[in-house]
Amino acid sequence: MNTPELPTYADVEAAASRIAGVAHRTPVQTSRTLNEIIGAEVFFKCENFQRMGAFKFRGAFNALSKFSPAQREAGVVAFSSGNHAQGIALSAKILGVPTTIVMPHDAPASKVAATKGYGATVVSFDRYTEDREAIGRRLAEEKGLTLIPPYDHPDILSGQGTAAKELFEEVGALDYLFVPLGGGGLLSGTALSTRALAPQCVLYGVEPEAGNDGQQSFRSGEIVHIDTPKTIADGAQTQHLGNYTFGIIRRDVDDILTATDAELVSAMKFFASRMKMLVEPTGCLGLAAALNRKDALTGKRVGVILSGGNVDLERFCALTAE
Ligand SMILES: *Cc1c(COP(=O)(O)O)cnc(C)c1O
Repeated sequence: MNTPELPTYADVEAAASRIAGVAHRTPVQTSRTLNEIIGAEVFFKCENFQRMGAFKFRGAFNALSKFSPAQREAGVVAFSSGNHAQGIALSAKILGVPTTIVMPHDAPASKVAATKGYGATVVSFDRYTEDREAIGRRLAEEKGLTLIPPYDHPDILSGQGTAAKELFEEVGALDYLFVPLGGGGLLSGTALSTRALAPQCVLYGVEPEAGNDGQQSFRSGEIVHIDTPKTIADGAQTQHLGNYTFGIIRRDVDDILTATDAELVSAMKFFASRMKMLVEPTGCLGLAAALNRKDALTGKRVGVILSGGNVDLERFCALTAE
């Protein structure tokens, strides 16, 4: 593997000043019921309340803010299962940058509609047979667009790290932090903030059990590639970590855990019924993993990044109906 020069916490701080006043400083919520169930003090960083409904706005706005005038004029292209696309589309709209988004044909309707609503041109593809990265790269070459990948980019992961920075600033050091993991932009950025602000904190990435490439990679020391996993956690249906994200994760993360789709559904129900929050399946990975290892958490201060809330209401109802 080629190890690129990795971003540092200084890049997260720079990102924080670029997004200040544009991104929301999202609330930290707690639940007495949950604290009793787990026997710990649990703090949720609620990125479901971020602009466009997920933390992805942070990285996207940070990356686009750094474009040169020529890049701004030519435009941006992104490939994404949804939230990255929306983050790019909204950031580009705010900054006046033309946008093309490559999206899977079966992306949730709410995500496609929201992306188009921000003024982006949407190009769709079959996520089980076509290579979105190749499509994105071809568009970039043909039209002179700047390709911003969903996770493996220093400006993206540095921007994502601002959520954990805010969490530590608000609640102080934590004993444990649980973070959803797809391609690792959120986890690697979080790792930079964690090692700077709460170095002793035990940091876990959490993947869907059906797509545990990150766990395999972490444990083997090589980036493992898998087929697109079938899971309800559509924000974590990634096939592999990136060179930047894996470099940081391997150095700074304590372990990668998994959660099943059934556990994600239970967590969705808990958030809706007890905390009055609509959380998308991928956003539930952290809570699901914390519940799985609650015995280890007794008496501790535990952070959970609740990464997003974009789920069609019909889909939410279908998933939580049983
Ligand atoms: C993208 C996304 C993730 C995974 O983030 P990565 O940076 O790809 O690891 C988790 N949750 C939600 C809601 C997302 O949109």
